[in-house]
Amino acid sequence: MSLLTETASSTDSVTVENNEFDYSAAPANKRVSFHTIGCRLNQSETETLSRSFEQQGYTVVAETAQAEVCVINTCTVTEPSDAKNRQLIRTLHRKNPAAAIAVVGCYAQINPEEIAAIEGVNLVIGSAEKMQITDYLSQIDSHKSPIIVRPKINKSTFTNPVIPHSTAYITKSTKYQALKLGQADNSTASEPQQICDSMSQQNTRASLKIQDGCDFMCSFCIIPFARGRSRYREFQNLQEEARMLLDEGVQEIVITGVNVGTYKTGKRSIVDVIDFLNTLPGLSRIRISSIEPTTVPEILFQYMSDPQHKLVPFFHLPLQSGSDIILSQMKRRYTATEYADEIWRAFESVPDLCLGTDVMVGFPEENEAEFESTLNLLNKLPLTYFHVFPFSTREGTPAFRMEAQINPQVKQRRGEILRSLSSKKRRTFNQRFLAQTRNVLWEARKPDGTISGYTDNYIRVVLEDLNGPDLRNQLLRVTLKELKGQNVVGVQSI
Ligand code: SF4
Repeated sequence: MSLLTETASSTDSVTVENNEFDYSAAPANKRVSFHTIGCRLNQSETETLSRSFEQQGYTVVAETAQAEVCVINTCTVTEPSDAKNRQLIRTLHRKNPAAAIAVVGCYAQINPEEIAAIEGVNLVIGSAEKMQITDYLSQIDSHKSPIIVRPKINKSTFTNPVIPHSTAYITKSTKYQALKLGQADNSTASEPQQICDSMSQQNTRASLKIQDGCDFMCSFCIIPFARGRSRYREFQNLQEEARMLLDEGVQEIVITGVNVGTYKTGKRSIVDVIDFLNTLPGLSRIRISSIEPTTVPEILFQYMSDPQHKLVPFFHLPLQSGSDIILSQMKRRYTATEYADEIWRAFESVPDLCLGTDVMVGFPEENEAEFESTLNLLNKLPLTYFHVFPFSTREGTPAFRMEAQINPQVKQRRGEILRSLSSKKRRTFNQRFLAQTRNVLWEARKPDGTISGYTDNYIRVVLEDLNGPDLRNQLLRVTLKELKGQNVVGVQSI
């Protein structure tokens, strides 16, 4: 792949104060902190990046710790995400004035000059090269303008590095857990800040990226520009990572990508990915993070209905709007009736299924009647929850040019109505399972002493047993006792 490396012209005035750090020096003893804005895919890419830094000798530290290198993996899906990225970069520079600041990902792909103009930024890398960030760190010269790397994203099949966590990391992580639980002696008291907190969830649930980019070109969406066209991970490479995750004790694999239902390498589809994962001894659960409604293979209903199959009863199928007029302007590939039919088919085929969706409010020209269509549809369908997003104009997308933009107060009101319906539906769904016994995969204990985890059908269960044993990464049966907000309180079954 040829690299298009350019230097920002708009950043000549950038200075990095107190900067005595030698970026070209060996990584040993350098601390790096990672910061992620955005989706599960971004989070899984940050996880891979952290492993590759660790492999090269860096020490991965918590987000709040001092570091010599700060990596920010950005999102650009809405205007507020752009603002959040900028705010985060400024805060990190203030707290770590001597650190090398490297900004990667979707926002870096779409608007590298805007990022390079922020004080403290040394390196900006778009989507194609972001996994190669360590190659560019040694090129940083704090007295020069930031380096911008943004080659064209090509469409070929890709591989991801498959790197286990180092033994040192796992040992430290275990110590950190012990410290959090008050089970370690104080001689290690300086250690928690040396450990990246988000990584302490390892050995429980891990994302497996199988696909990137999108060809669907919905009229509001910047993703095909920020991440390029759809491309797929080599099958053997994803198999290798899945096996490595199992070796590290992961119990649940979440299949992740932008548009995972389109996965295709040779004759292999997402069904082959699931068939392979299902054969892995030691793996307890397979989950699909989100899948486009028109791309769901029918056989998945059968898999989810089979209690012996590891694919859990969970679908997240983005709807976006319940109005055919708006759906057509969004260039979505289904009508409201087709979407509803699919939801009912899934609901009737899979016992105890959790069904989530994304919905957008305030798309240009969305009038009250069209919003009502969305509300009515969501009301009628057996959905468990919705993620509600106000429409945000993204330059370069067809919706950016649409004239009848919706007033922000109207978007806010519509968003609140849908969010409150979602909370109601979530409680109704959770209520259905009270007094039942289900397996929960427990996560790390929180600093307040509580411990929580998810059932297969995505009910968050909280245990309030503050003095009990550490259940992290154990799959245990609990009885669902009572509702607590959007969660359920559980008691361990004897
Ligand atoms: S399916 Fe549409 S909304 Fe989803 S990533 Fe692709 S273009 Fe964006």
